Amino acid sequence: MADKSRDISIVVVGGSYAGAAAAKKLADLSKKGYTGLKVTLVDEKSHYFHAIGFPKALVDAKYAAKAFLPFSAFFENGTQHQFINSRLKSITDAHHLELENGQQVYYDYLVLATGGKAPGPINVSATSKDEGLAEIEQLRVGLQDANSVLVIGGGAVGVEVAGFVAATFPQKKVTLVHSGKRLMPTNFRDGVSNGAVAKLGQIGVDVVLNERVELPSDFGHSAHVGHKVLRGISGTEYPSDVQILAVGFKVNSAFLEPLESKTGSLLHIEDGPGFIRVRPTLQLDSDSFPNIFVPGDANDLPMTAKYGFKAEMQGGTAAANIKKLIDAGFDQSFSESEDSAIANAPALGKWSDMVDAIMVPIGPDLGVVQMLKVALGGSGIANFLVRQIKSKDFMLWMRKGYFPNKQQTSGQ
Ligand SMILES: Cc1cc2nc3c(=O)[nH]c(=O)nc-3n(C[C@H](O)[C@H](O)[C@H](O)COP(=O)(O)OP(=O)(O)OC[C@H]3O[C@@H](n4cnc5c(N)ncnc54)[C@H](O)[C@@H]3O)c2cc1C
Repeated sequence: MADKSRDISIVVVGGSYAGAAAAKKLADLSKKGYTGLKVTLVDEKSHYFHAIGFPKALVDAKYAAKAFLPFSAFFENGTQHQFINSRLKSITDAHHLELENGQQVYYDYLVLATGGKAPGPINVSATSKDEGLAEIEQLRVGLQDANSVLVIGGGAVGVEVAGFVAATFPQKKVTLVHSGKRLMPTNFRDGVSNGAVAKLGQIGVDVVLNERVELPSDFGHSAHVGHKVLRGISGTEYPSDVQILAVGFKVNSAFLEPLESKTGSLLHIEDGPGFIRVRPTLQLDSDSFPNIFVPGDANDLPMTAKYGFKAEMQGGTAAANIKKLIDAGFDQSFSESEDSAIANAPALGKWSDMVDAIMVPIGPDLGVVQMLKVALGGSGIANFLVRQIKSKDFMLWMRKGYFPNKQQTSGQ
């Protein structure tokens, strides 16, 4: 085995579900004899935002304030690891990248966990906590003043948002319009979808299926406050005072451009959301960059893998594979001779999407669940499970464990 205590620089870009899991596992290695290993976490945001809790943050200002955790508290005090608050501009070559603040950063291994953006404010786009809170607050005030709310998109996010809005503001008319013939992702059972329709109905949400709302070209990627009449392709008009888009998703891969020019091949898919191509080991799909891993929403694994908990699992797989390469001395030989390093690289673990599970709160009291092949849609057991496990704080408590530097977490 190669010398564990040698200097190794690992850069993780993006500190959300995938990146945080990878960075934490890799930083922990420095307590296990890998004394020269340094993890640098880079994020354009100063704070991690718990996107999973957005439906609750939208209607509960106190919770929203708690859902932002400062990256300055991510690494324990007194370690060699560091957080840089900047945006990745470009990956220059297999060992260097450039940040928007002008810094050039060297890496032996790179984890690209830059995810994707759903239309903001659903996926808070602000880069500071104050601006992020203001973004959510503006929508919350709009909801308070509205008589009617239109939610577009009946995946899990649209169902949760419509449910929390309707349960919090029972006097308002809430309509959920979905282009599919059933709610929720298609890999889940009919029982989950039917249960969601029934439970949304219980709290007064009108669910419209098989309908595509035509969005004006200037609609942008955002929720809108202000009266609008949108039309469905069926010809039906949907007047509302607030419109929330829970559809659309875009991946940024512009920073790969120098690598794409060098290799003369596209490392991302041009169509659709623009996913970054990966191998089952989560390495970038190129023989030239075996030291770059892309876990989480940014990669081109199937849409059924686009969940926070799966992003987190992929972050773990990427970290475990990097450890295997470190143990085999891959970074040393890769710097000397790329071809022979690749020829002698150890076999790496492959990520496989084995868990099909979903837990969707519909307001604080109701919800639907599927675990493996068992769908608990319309049942009271589903309500009980969702209340016990998710609706109270959307599992924010689990995320707090990632931010051990308590002194800095409190009050920020
Ligand atoms: C409202 C909502 C509710 C959801 N509910 C659930 C749920 O209940 N359960 C579930 O499992 N999943 C849920 N999801 C999906 C889940 O949030 C995503 O699958 C998850 O966020 C993906 O994690 P990620 O780490 O891959 O990327 P992201 O969460 O997208 O994070 C990417 C990170 O990279 C940073 N970044 C991006 N580009 C750059 C750059 N160029 N330079 C520096 N930093 C950069 C961003 O600031 C961000 O911190 C929900 C999503 C939404 C929007």
